[in-house]
Amino acid sequence: MKLKRPAYTKFICAKCKCHEKIPTDIVLQMDMMDPGDPLYPPMFNCEKCDGLMRPVYFRGYTGIEYTYDGN
Ligand SMILES: [Zn+2]
Repeated sequence: MKLKRPAYTKFICAKCKCHEKIPTDIVLQMDMMDPGDPLYPPMFNCEKCDGLMRPVYFRGYTGIEYTYDGN
């Protein structure tokens, strides 16, 4: 059964708390290309500061769920 995913995944910057929506397909691709520590979700560099953006909610391709409330 194919998992239903939203078209966009919301990210929050850990530093300046700005929000950004990234297409879920791209987030999934990043998750699959990164064989690193599964404790960490795919992350983006914030365009407004030097902080890291983390997904508010994202389920990785291995089924791991990541949540982040901005704190
Ligand atoms: Zn930022």
